[in-house]
Amino acid sequence: MNTPFNFQLQMRQGRARAGVFTTPHGEIHTPVFAPVGTQATVKALTPAQLSELKASLVLANTYHLYLRPGDSLISEMGGLHRFMNWQNPILTDSGGFQVFSLANSRVIDDDGVTFKSHVDGSTHRFTPEKAIAIQENLGADIIMAFDECAEPYDREYNKQAVSRTHAWAERCLATKIRQDQALFGIVQGGVFPDLREHSARFISSLDFPGNAIGGLSVGETKDEMHAMLEVVDPILPADKPRYLMGVGTAEDMVNGVKRGIDIFDCVLPTRLARHNAALTRTGRLNIANATFAQDQKPIDETCTCYTCQNFTRAYVRHLVVTKEMLSATLLSIHNLHTLLQLAGDIRLAILEERFDDFYTEFFVRREGS
Ligand SMILES: [Zn+2]
Repeated sequence: MNTPFNFQLQMRQGRARAGVFTTPHGEIHTPVFAPVGTQATVKALTPAQLSELKASLVLANTYHLYLRPGDSLISEMGGLHRFMNWQNPILTDSGGFQVFSLANSRVIDDDGVTFKSHVDGSTHRFTPEKAIAIQENLGADIIMAFDECAEPYDREYNKQAVSRTHAWAERCLATKIRQDQALFGIVQGGVFPDLREHSARFISSLDFPGNAIGGLSVGETKDEMHAMLEVVDPILPADKPRYLMGVGTAEDMVNGVKRGIDIFDCVLPTRLARHNAALTRTGRLNIANATFAQDQKPIDETCTCYTCQNFTRAYVRHLVVTKEMLSATLLSIHNLHTLLQLAGDIRLAILEERFDDFYTEFFVRREGS
């Protein structure tokens, strides 16, 4: 059977990998950072601005789009790519993580989850079949299996969540119809190496075109997250992309790539932008700070983004202080550029077989700031 998906590993250095994942809407060069467009929009940015930033993969949230405007409506409008006018690859989550986050208004059973909408309190139900049907209506290139994300330290709950996640993964595969979407399986297991190992083996056995690691960056320590990545890396098939869900700060990307991860996503760069924080290669700047009132320098003197090429810290601070909408746009451009550029630099370092030096220099530079 002909599939529009193909993953080509170009170079490996230690566990770090550089590759190309081909999708119906173009190539994703990995390692890759995916900006988050929760409501089918990366907040404060036009698709043209995203293209200029050379974003390739954008994430959208199934739970939110199911509630508003509804996945049927998006389907009638020609699918997510046409609806939001993003002609490059899109990934949708399964909605599971958001539903499980509704701590007091959901009930989980072996068949699925019943929950109350955060918008109007109405009652809804997601099952593996429903999560796939919604994602088929949305039409993203990469779709995710419906999984259960447990509290990371609760062993009994994680055991149960892993079993459900596995049964649901099989149901997602069985119900999926569209051939132009790649369904990724998800490994769970909290901070428990044996559960992670068991989950990675089972999910790998289902032969998904890509695999994800869920249930991390949800309260555990960095050391625990790294340990879990080291458990699953040798088990997951090397010839398929690996996605670390909801993780994507600069440090997390460098550390994740070192442990075999190819795809990252994180709301932080655009969320921070709306809270006046600029990410730089060495840390964060609060641009509202009075010390920037007459600062003629760009946010980051080493940055080549549109914001840093054209505006001073003094001007961006002025926009923040006067609550002008352009501040969110200029800071989002800068913050996303910083992470997209970092992913590109990591990729180049792997291709040029100097990732180990890159890794060392990255942390030396951050400690020195
Ligand atoms: Zn910049």
